[in-house]
Amino acid sequence: MNGKRADRPDKEGAGLENSPSIVWFRRDLRVRDNRALAAAAARGGTVLPVFIWAPEEEGKWAPGEASRWWLHHSLESLGRSLRSLGAPLVLRRGPSREALLDLAGETGAGAVYWNRLYDPGPAKRDRSIARSLTAAGILAEGFPGALLFEPEDVRSGSGGPYRVFTPFWNRLLSLPERGAGPDAPNRMIASEKKPRSLPLADLGLLPRVDWAAGLREAWTPGEEGAVARLDRFLREGIGGYDAERNRPDREGTSRLSPHLCWGEIAPSRAWSEARRRASRLRSEKTRASALAWLRQLAWREFAAHLLHHYPSTVEHPLREEFRRFPWRRSRKDLEAWREGRTGYPIVDAGMRQLRATGWMHNRVRMIAGSFLVKDLRLHWLEGARWFWDTLVDADLANNTLGWQWVAGCGADAAPYFRVFNPVAQGERYDPEGAYVKRHVPELAGLPAKSIHRAGEAPAEAPAATGLQAGRDYPPPMVDHARAREEALLALAAMKGVKKRNRR
Ligand code: FAD
Repeated sequence: MNGKRADRPDKEGAGLENSPSIVWFRRDLRVRDNRALAAAAARGGTVLPVFIWAPEEEGKWAPGEASRWWLHHSLESLGRSLRSLGAPLVLRRGPSREALLDLAGETGAGAVYWNRLYDPGPAKRDRSIARSLTAAGILAEGFPGALLFEPEDVRSGSGGPYRVFTPFWNRLLSLPERGAGPDAPNRMIASEKKPRSLPLADLGLLPRVDWAAGLREAWTPGEEGAVARLDRFLREGIGGYDAERNRPDREGTSRLSPHLCWGEIAPSRAWSEARRRASRLRSEKTRASALAWLRQLAWREFAAHLLHHYPSTVEHPLREEFRRFPWRRSRKDLEAWREGRTGYPIVDAGMRQLRATGWMHNRVRMIAGSFLVKDLRLHWLEGARWFWDTLVDADLANNTLGWQWVAGCGADAAPYFRVFNPVAQGERYDPEGAYVKRHVPELAGLPAKSIHRAGEAPAEAPAATGLQAGRDYPPPMVDHARAREEALLALAAMKGVKKRNRR
């Protein structure tokens, strides 16, 4: 939806220039680099920023618990910024179409601006709302900003969408940079008619039982927090990113994902500032490291590209044959995985980090994901749904790509037969066991050499640790070697071929 103009007098410039402009905020909770806000401010009339809470419009993929916590605080922060710019944020409940038409009716607004969303459900809704606004004689316009490039502008040599990352990445590097967006407006004129606004608490985004202490400790939602995190990462982290990014025991990645997910910072700003920083780095190695980070931003872009072109992948594997995969069902096993009681310390540490902080390190997302779909052979959608509810960075495109990658059923995915060994992965990427000790405190007394086998051989633990087999920490819920064999048999069954001896 790149903007539809109503057949109204303002097209000819008669009468609506100074009518209020509504800015419909969604996942673009920032005042800088915000093209919709800048367009409204530039129009000259009063500016009416609005956020409409309408989770039912996102169906099964309405924001989960952790996302709602984030959203509450991000709206608080956005509200402060907009108030200081002179145009307070109005909060309403959906349906969005009715809320926008009501607000336009109450204030005489002649235009509604927003920044585009690309997930299939919201994109379809926006197209339909644009038609209704246009029919009501209101200018409706969507702007780019959530991605580096519009998904339809990135085309392969044959003109179709990409399904493999590396050529997509090369193509991105060849495209002209869009550059960071406009500055925040200096000052905006608030509408004289004060439209009714719900108190933030009435949106009911915060959990009834406060489980969010760990989230509060770990994060500062909002644009200021986003800018501070990017600045710090560019100053201190980007040069060592490539060497550190697979180490969950260290703070080697930017942790920018929830800020990007809620649009508190524009990816184009992150991209251009990182490129500028890279050009000032002295050694070849640190410059390569900065490029490795830009590549991760491109994975985000690739995820959005895939979801835009293959919207059914939210629920269905991109590789059709996986519809026949013999997934198991077990509520008990799923619960043990969710709660971090699998008996594999690196998996449990990841799942507990997720519950406590709303985030999990990427390497551990891959290990814990692989454990669910391969060792337990539970459906990747079970994992996607749990992540959706518990991640503060829950993003439909990235989550779908991540889970289909892990399950081997997506574009450019890890082949299904590559099964992560959770013990070997733990020993390699958390060699001192510091990550496990942080998130699985009952294992804190174990020496590094045995910590990743704690469930397997707790008897080896020195008596001084006081750890008792099966009592303090569960034994492995499956034997990895056997589970791997069974996963490979299931794969062979899906392919309808006899399994050859793979030992
Ligand atoms: P950095 O390493 O600093 O990377 C910078 C940015 O690049 C990230 O903030 C993110 O926006 C993007 N990025 C990095 N890695 C990836 C990736 N593999 N795919 C797409 N974008 C990436 N990411 C989400 O933002 N939301 C999700 O819901 C999500 N679900 C995932 C589920 C699974 C099973 C897996 C394996 C990965 C998932 N990811 C998801 C991708 C990745 O784990 C996170 O983006 C990353 O851990 C965020 O940490 P960071 O900001 O420190 O990343």
